[in-house]
Amino acid sequence: MKPAVFKPVVVLVGRPNVGKSTLFNRLTRSRDALVADFPGLTRDRHYGEGRVGDHPFIVVDTGGFEPVAKSGIMAEMARQTVQAVDEADAVVFLTDGRAGLTGHDREIAERLRRSGRKVLLAVNKVEGMSRTTASAEFYELGLGEPHAISAAHGDGVVDLIEVALSGLVEPLEEAGEDDEEAGEPGDEFVATEAVDHRIKLAIVGRPNVGKSTLVNTLLGEERVIAFDQPGTTRDAIEIEFERGGRRYTLIDTAGLRKRGKVFEAIEKFSVIKTLQAIEACNVVLLMLDASSEISEQDAHIAGFVLETGRALVVAINKWDSVDSERREEIKREFDRKLRFLSFAKMHTVSALRNAGVGPLLKSIEAAHAAAFAKLATPKLTRVLQAAVEQQQPPRKGIFRPKLRYAHQGGQNPPLIVVHGSALDEIPDSYRRYLEARFRETFSLQGTPLKIEFRNSR
Ligand code: GDP
Ligand code: GDP
Repeated sequence: MKPAVFKPVVVLVGRPNVGKSTLFNRLTRSRDALVADFPGLTRDRHYGEGRVGDHPFIVVDTGGFEPVAKSGIMAEMARQTVQAVDEADAVVFLTDGRAGLTGHDREIAERLRRSGRKVLLAVNKVEGMSRTTASAEFYELGLGEPHAISAAHGDGVVDLIEVALSGLVEPLEEAGEDDEEAGEPGDEFVATEAVDHRIKLAIVGRPNVGKSTLVNTLLGEERVIAFDQPGTTRDAIEIEFERGGRRYTLIDTAGLRKRGKVFEAIEKFSVIKTLQAIEACNVVLLMLDASSEISEQDAHIAGFVLETGRALVVAINKWDSVDSERREEIKREFDRKLRFLSFAKMHTVSALRNAGVGPLLKSIEAAHAAAFAKLATPKLTRVLQAAVEQQQPPRKGIFRPKLRYAHQGGQNPPLIVVHGSALDEIPDSYRRYLEARFRETFSLQGTPLKIEFRNSR
């Protein structure tokens, strides 16, 4: 066992209207474009990935903070906020420099001070104001020097996040991290190297779907009990195991650690830990429970997987416990509610009886291979040209987009960069058509696939 490097978590807290979602959007916007158009995708815009320089981190926007509410939706939001603060590596407490300091701010500051987390005080909306004047009154919160920022304009935001992350980040060595750089002028045709050939697996799903049972089945009872060790958010662990001659690294998630007779206490489901595990792995196994309905929570987790671009295999567990009628029903439910996961292979298994686990692992291997597939430029270009020959992209005004050649720009997920001219107006339907052609030629089942259009200069 050894520690896994999880991306640090920055949690945004503050009363309503101070600019939390504006800051969240600014920090995470690079991801938005990738997942805009999947029908049926449930996205939770409270969790996202941000990046400053080489440092990726997870951003959490807590809906609101109403410490006074005792029940109802406000109380539930407060509970979630408390949990998020609890799991944060750094908390950014946002205030409004135009509205000035309020009683509500003081209350939140008091709660945050008691949390023992690293807290950064940010005074927002200060564009066009003197930073010194705007932040003066906020010193009295006793949270150190206020950071004057403008979330809307971006002023001071990078500095703020750098301070938040200082002491937390070490460079991540992870496959696919250099997507953004790939394809820069000069290195366009450099073959992309697979940085990591290990299958790093995260088993995720809501509580009680059978994650720990599957881990037990895979590892044997004793090993799982060895999981139990105190840990903070960042001290996650990796466990190596071997099945069928193939080595796996299991990324621990909160839910997998609780077993062992001594630790029966039910742990709260942690979105943050689930998200961190997804970010840290290269293949996700999403577990669903055949005996209960596919829920919003399942769909949210699936949405994260898609957003991160990780390879994915789905297991519907507890197959032993349901009759044939329910079996048909859950398959229909899956097709209806999680249609956007159609790229992934779906298995029906029983973790308890060790049924279907072998084929499941085969699909995990295949998904991993697809995610790290090397797609040679000549073959990509041949597939592209054959696809275009069979069906031209639609004309836009007087222009017809011209698709000339394609190269690979990244892995996990594979990124295919298509070069040509007048490519701005390629409709989604045509993108999907190309995607299907690339998928079938290169056997890319189990991984999302990104296609980027780039106009030649
Ligand atoms: P939240 O409720 O804390 O998530 O706040 P929002 O992000 O929804 O922002 C509330 C209002 O403040 C919106 O009208 C934003 O456009 C505005 N706002 C956010 N950031 C800034 C800023 O840096 N400067 C100014 N002037 N307005 C901002
Ligand atoms: P986790 O919270 O996702 O880790 O779920 P657990 O592994 O703790 O399983 C929750 C409950 O479901 C336990 O009572 C398990 O015995 C039961 N369970 C797990 N897998 C199966 C299965 O394949 N079939 C049946 N019938 N029950 C299962």
